[in-house]
Amino acid sequence: MIPPIASRFVAGTSASGALDHVSDCNRDGMGGILNLLGEHYHEPEPAAEDADEYCHLASQLAERDLNGTISVKPSQIGIDVGPDVFTANFERIVEAAAAEDVFVWCDMEDHTTTDTTLDAVESAARDHPDGVGVAIQANLKRTRDDLERLADVPAAVRLVKGAYDEPSSVALDSKAAVDEAYEDHLEFLFREFDHGVAVGSHDTKMLKTAVDLHKEYGTPFEIQMLMGVREDAQRELAEKGYEVNQYVPYGDKWMQYFYRRVRERKENALFALRAVVGV
Ligand code: FAD
Repeated sequence: MIPPIASRFVAGTSASGALDHVSDCNRDGMGGILNLLGEHYHEPEPAAEDADEYCHLASQLAERDLNGTISVKPSQIGIDVGPDVFTANFERIVEAAAAEDVFVWCDMEDHTTTDTTLDAVESAARDHPDGVGVAIQANLKRTRDDLERLADVPAAVRLVKGAYDEPSSVALDSKAAVDEAYEDHLEFLFREFDHGVAVGSHDTKMLKTAVDLHKEYGTPFEIQMLMGVREDAQRELAEKGYEVNQYVPYGDKWMQYFYRRVRERKENALFALRAVVGV
């Protein structure tokens, strides 16, 4: 059971509850991106179990005829066990999802995993063009090179600012620099990509830049935001006709994810505190 305080950000502990949430998103004109919570498995068994659940999830999305995709974390499906374990699990998920016509996103974790993640995504995209996409982080100094590589791969890109504390040897060290890089990379994506651009941000400024770039280049794009964050804006954007997809985490490992959302923003911390003390 997820306490009410966390249920703003997490769609319950079970797949069926999360699928119900996707159905609600669909009713509001949005798609859902399902993520089973879990990360940093160091044994092959839990990685294989979560890969199984993603395969099952793809068939349930199809069975219920929902507008939904799935999003997988590399360390959840074995990257810490070994690159081969991760790649094999990822391929298995993409195969199963492709059979149900379900799109698979790969989240991006810290910079030590970037190369292996991109290799797996590129290989899967060559086998299943337009069936996979990957998150790319604007805070990493390497990102322009990665986007240039992906411009020739039939994989979509979700541009995010980057959620991991990274050393300054590999990452930009101020929020202003990350924001500037984000807008530069967006411009590159809208100019060079004709195969799937996703703006993974809640930042009004980034969303406005995306809308302006769409007007300039005509490139289709989608907006992705997290469950529980700026949901009014999500619905408003969907009503205006933009493609909006909500990232919907679920599962019994909700605690770490919930505290990450709370730490990100003082208003969320106040919300959590108010829920605890009942004011
Ligand atoms: P910020 O500058 O952080 O925030 C802009 C504004 O958005 C804030 O002023 C506030 O109004 C609102 N806002 C932002 N966060 C919150 C919050 N928690 N609660 C309430 N309001 C908030 N990162 C990765 O490293 N790898 C991934 O694979 C990845 N996948 C993601 C998938 C999606 C769909 C999204 C939306 C984000 C993902 N992220 C990922 C996280 C991302 O890197 C950022 O850490 C996160 O989105 C905050 O950045 P922002 O662009 O929203 O801008």
